[in-house]
Amino acid sequence: MRPTLCDTFKSRALWTWDTLARGRSVKCQIGEETLTDLNILELKIRHASEVYSKTFTKRKEGSNGADWEWWFTGSSGKWIGFRVQAKVIDIDTDSFKHLHYHKNKNSGFQCDYLIKEAFSNKEFPMIPLYCLYSNWNTLSKVPWRCLTYYPVEESYGCSILSAFAVRYLRSFEKKIKSKSSTKDFEFLLNYINPWHCLVCCRGYGEGDLPNRVIKYWRNFIRRSEREISEQLSLNTRRQVDSELENYYGTYNQIELLDNPPEYVLRLLENELNEQPYPNVRTITVFKEWDEPISYNY
Ligand SMILES: [Zn+2]
Repeated sequence: MRPTLCDTFKSRALWTWDTLARGRSVKCQIGEETLTDLNILELKIRHASEVYSKTFTKRKEGSNGADWEWWFTGSSGKWIGFRVQAKVIDIDTDSFKHLHYHKNKNSGFQCDYLIKEAFSNKEFPMIPLYCLYSNWNTLSKVPWRCLTYYPVEESYGCSILSAFAVRYLRSFEKKIKSKSSTKDFEFLLNYINPWHCLVCCRGYGEGDLPNRVIKYWRNFIRRSEREISEQLSLNTRRQVDSELENYYGTYNQIELLDNPPEYVLRLLENELNEQPYPNVRTITVFKEWDEPISYNY
């Protein structure tokens, strides 16, 4: 039987986990772009008619990121897009060292750029998201909030976290004791889910791919943002909220789109040659044909 997109998202998370574990065993840190490229390769090979992707290897001058765009569509003909920043776990510290990355003291944070750029095109607002490539070998208790599949801790090999959650975590960082950090995987585990939940979870909502994705965003991602922001002191929370105020108007109202941006259509026609945004390294479209029917591993 042909694998569904859902099967491949699940198996790529296990592969990512295992690859990082093999790296760990010989003290070899693997980079996020390598993992992204190999995951896309496998998605394209297994789903030639469902996955379209284009990577721009030439960095444009002045760009300050290597963002990844995800566009999901399915039998409803609706669309939803994400602006994604991939981060790989640092195997020495079991943390995402560069989660709150900024070039230097005077430059803004990468997370803030990610949020800003996700909303830069008013007609096609995207959801800003982090994709965390993860592995650990020391944890005893692992939370499991997937409502569809049995727990498999290696599924956290590819996990997702809202960029708004990352922004709140940056302010939260000052509050918690120096021994632990919001960048530690153990801490983040409370707020993330494996990426297959976005693509295949029926526990958060039914329907074709874009419908499942938006329901998962509403019912899980937004909730995790609130859980983090509620832990901030009232003053800090107000301060961050006012900083994000401009985006929340659009973010709160994100709905499925009838059409994707024009450059996405060009990608489907294999005619996308120009990089649409300087910070976008890769654009991937997931066009689901075979909706998942299996509920089990
Ligand atoms: Zn799930």
